[in-house]
Amino acid sequence: GEGMPRPEQTRIVVVANQKGGVGKTTTTVNLAASLALHGARVLVVDLDPQGNASTALGIDHHADVPSIYDVLVESRPLSEVVQPVVDVEGLFCAPATIDLAGAEIELVSLVARESRLERAIQSYEQPLDYILIDCPPSLGLLTVNALVAGQEVLIPIQCEYYALEGLGQLLRNVDLVRGHLNPTLHVSTILLTMYDGRTRLASQVAEEVRSHFGEEVLRTSIPRSVRISEAPSYGQTVLTYDPGSSGALSYLEAAREIALRGVGISYDATQAHIGA
Ligand code: ADP
Ligand code: MG
Repeated sequence: GEGMPRPEQTRIVVVANQKGGVGKTTTTVNLAASLALHGARVLVVDLDPQGNASTALGIDHHADVPSIYDVLVESRPLSEVVQPVVDVEGLFCAPATIDLAGAEIELVSLVARESRLERAIQSYEQPLDYILIDCPPSLGLLTVNALVAGQEVLIPIQCEYYALEGLGQLLRNVDLVRGHLNPTLHVSTILLTMYDGRTRLASQVAEEVRSHFGEEVLRTSIPRSVRISEAPSYGQTVLTYDPGSSGALSYLEAAREIALRGVGISYDATQAHIGA
């Protein structure tokens, strides 16, 4: 916790990329845990019917558990579904259950179908520094609800062929939501994930992403790490599963960079806390 600036207002960060398997969920849970370990109060909203973020945080999300489905479709208060994450102080999760798969259709006929998550978050009275929303791999009404509720979009990009493919569609959706429903929305952060510095492909993709997005790309990238991929099967983030691993340190560093940027402090990579 020391030396980590806390935002003046709750920062609501939408983790989105309609491609599956690029590291959205991994990034959501590990960044959230990192921010909490840095002393922030953080809520993860699991908006993917797969419930992978809930699983990775060790949160019970079997079919009967009060979940984000009840919030979106039944207008249940968010406070009634939020659970604390064991082992990480200050970290909370609004879980997804399998019935969320039906919400995409059920939302269509409801009033204010695009802003149901926003309303739920606005009525939530617990103090929070960050809300991180883990989106499903699609641009349907669940993702639109996240974009309407949020201020910032964080796009994880996997360093592989076709990394930028399909991003145009996400960026157009962000523009549409900004223009019609949420004027504060912007892409604040690009995070390179599963980065393997030994391959030329990874460094080429990284260079391409940096020239395309510029300042939004975090200096810190996340390495490919077995420890990161193992952690969810223990219901843990890599921050508690293997705190000294390169994966844990890189997420802690990414969290620090995001926190500093949020208060307008430019990040100095030479001050990085990651050891060699
Ligand atoms: P998404 O939510 O975008 O579908 P996930 O976060 O579920 O993507 O990641 C897809 C797969 O890649 C998962 O099996 C996850 O464990 C693995 N993975 C994600 N990031 C890393 C990483 N840095 N190193 C190794 N495996 C990773
Ligand atoms: Mg996911």
